[in-house]
Amino acid sequence: MSAASAVLVIAAADSSGGAGLTRDAQTLGELHVALCCAVTAVTVQTDTELRATHQVPAQVVRAQIRAALDSGQIGAIKIGMLGTAATVRAVAESLPPRERLPIVLDPVLRASSGGTLLERDAVALLRELLLPRVSLVTPNIVEAAALLGDEATRDSMIGEASLRSQLQRLLALGAAAVLIKGGHRGEGEEVIDTLLAHGGPPVRIAVPRVCGTRRGTGCSLSSVIAARLAAGDSLIDACTVAQRYVAEALRAEATGAERPSLR
Ligand code: PLP
Repeated sequence: MSAASAVLVIAAADSSGGAGLTRDAQTLGELHVALCCAVTAVTVQTDTELRATHQVPAQVVRAQIRAALDSGQIGAIKIGMLGTAATVRAVAESLPPRERLPIVLDPVLRASSGGTLLERDAVALLRELLLPRVSLVTPNIVEAAALLGDEATRDSMIGEASLRSQLQRLLALGAAAVLIKGGHRGEGEEVIDTLLAHGGPPVRIAVPRVCGTRRGTGCSLSSVIAARLAAGDSLIDACTVAQRYVAEALRAEATGAERPSLR
């Protein structure tokens, strides 16, 4: 492992292998990036059902994070499923300053099968304690609305003005930057993710839409972003590479094609 290039993944195991830490490990492995992990929960899932969640005690999550940071190998942190308010608090209190290490938060709320992955009372705590500590938060538009307490819109209905308002209001909650993912938005020929950082205009990052489904795309996206930030990429470059990775993964899943390497 070269100095400070590993990613610390703070996330939950998904027994089905489709999402969560399992998907993060696969993604980082494909990029040849080492990872340390802090397991927040063990979930029992199939691709269509969340059967059970077993939370890891918060003090064990804290200890895993401390041990990973003590290794001196961590170049960025990715946060995925947290599960409970106690874990949100433990993670928030264990993070180094984002000026020292880039921290990417995928605000995981639900599985695509419909199961809850963050308890309702933990959402407010995530907003108050965690958002102000992260370099980037990566909601899809459903998660963005939930974090802001907005009425849930049908995904495809959100317009450009609402999107900009959501970006600005999320930024005001304290994250250094916000990437709202466009995958669930509309049926256009392109997927457009929109990035807003303090002091800059919104940046649209687009890729041709790939028709297909794959679990854990949000997990992969945030892992690739963290890996690229650890390698020294700018935020825009990291988000662009990650979007391309997800599109290629979707294409490979849809066609069974061999995946071209990223770099
Ligand atoms: N399960 C776990 C443990 C996750 O961390 C996530 C997302 O991060 C999901 C499920 C959701 O993935 P999907 O939308 O593919 O169900």
